[in-house]
Amino acid sequence: MTGLILTVIIFAAVMFLLFGPQKFSLMRRQHCSECGTILPFPRKPASFRQAMWGGWICPSCGTEVDGRGRKIEK
Ligand SMILES: [Zn+2]
Repeated sequence: MTGLILTVIIFAAVMFLLFGPQKFSLMRRQHCSECGTILPFPRKPASFRQAMWGGWICPSCGTEVDGRGRKIEK
């Protein structure tokens, strides 16, 4: 019985992360902080750091942004 409850809680948590409020959702679309272009999802990591922490190279202006859409200074 405990296992069933745990399964339901985990399922609900995963659903919340995938389809919950935009602020928390993993499915949210990020915008380039420089030009406002919607960044592609799923992303293709361009580096080990991007694979680990998320982030994009903006396809429009080439700015490197982190997982929250903020510009990364090189
Ligand atoms: Zn951009």
